[in-house]
Amino acid sequence: MQTGGKNVNKILVTRSSMPDLDEYIEEIKDIWDTHWLTNMGSKHKKLETQLKEYLDVENISLMTNGHLSLELGLQAMNLKGEVITTPFTFASTTHAIVRNGLTPVFCDIDSDNYTIDVTKIESLITDRTCAIVPVHVYGNVCNIEEIERIAKKYDLKVIYDAAHTFGVKYNGKGIGSFGDASMFSFHATKVFNTIEGGCMCFHDMSYEKELYKLKNFGIRNETVVDGIGSNAKMNEFQAAMGLCNLRHVDEEIQKRKKAVERYRENLHGTEGIKLSPVQENVESNYAYFPVVVDEKIFGATRNEIYDELKKHDIYARKYFYPLTNTFDCFHGKYDADSTPSALYISKRVLTLPLYADLSLEEVDRISRFILEMKK
Ligand SMILES: *Cc1c(COP(=O)(O)O)cnc(C)c1O
Repeated sequence: MQTGGKNVNKILVTRSSMPDLDEYIEEIKDIWDTHWLTNMGSKHKKLETQLKEYLDVENISLMTNGHLSLELGLQAMNLKGEVITTPFTFASTTHAIVRNGLTPVFCDIDSDNYTIDVTKIESLITDRTCAIVPVHVYGNVCNIEEIERIAKKYDLKVIYDAAHTFGVKYNGKGIGSFGDASMFSFHATKVFNTIEGGCMCFHDMSYEKELYKLKNFGIRNETVVDGIGSNAKMNEFQAAMGLCNLRHVDEEIQKRKKAVERYRENLHGTEGIKLSPVQENVESNYAYFPVVVDEKIFGATRNEIYDELKKHDIYARKYFYPLTNTFDCFHGKYDADSTPSALYISKRVLTLPLYADLSLEEVDRISRFILEMKK
């Protein structure tokens, strides 16, 4: 037992899942026989096979992180022009678009589940639009049917940022099997981690070769380099972490579920605090617990709740704030007033601590501090 350590009583917004040390050591032992550390080794292959089955997807390409999966996934599709996306997301989504020389066109979000507002997509389509990059925010599933209908009608590619939806099922199907492609992140802070890591899932087999090349410098074979690739290979130690964590992820999701249910019980019906809706036909992964604070009704602002929790060594996160279309690096380029729902939510949302080992007592304590602020 740790006692007196600095982090003992701190509750951070998340806590990375780790297998027992012995389990990890057992998993990496044979790397000392093979001396094969990276470049699509046996752990990489094994994880790819297991994830394909777990995620219920046709094809998968592992990468060293989620961001490069998305960036190279877009590159593999050889897109040009405008991409419709949302600003209520992590920096990665917008950056992956811009770094491909594409122009993001920001669509507002649904004020109920924070994913792209499908009623606003069509008015943003021009003759330069080539793709839609929607985000399954917090594990909430986008309106997949409507996005599919629009994409078909205008002949657009759909690449989902599915970073938050590891293990989520929609109508009994793996969430990564929708659209042309989906990116998952296996970052330390996500429901499933390979320390850093990620993947692109896709239908069209022609992307397989292309992605393999792009994550390995554009090398086709020993003597031919015919792509201007990057380096995004997942190494064997990452893959080994994934093989271990995958054995426990279902159990972890069940523990998250208990914490989420307790939060809901505690905070349900509090005027001025809006909880995420439970979506129909969705098997959730309980990735995040966002609350949206209407200060006029609740009597305290999101920032005041954030500060109060911090006083008790509880660290919630203003996630996603600020919107990506207000980032300094895009100064003067976009107008956040064109996405008013996203702007409203980002100023009022707070994601509360949530991880598998968060105890119900801790959930009660966090909830109590919030409820005590109600005026
Ligand atoms: C985590 C995350 C990413 C990036 O994934 P990394 O594995 O950290 O590179 C992209 N989009 C969203 C919405 C994320 O939360």
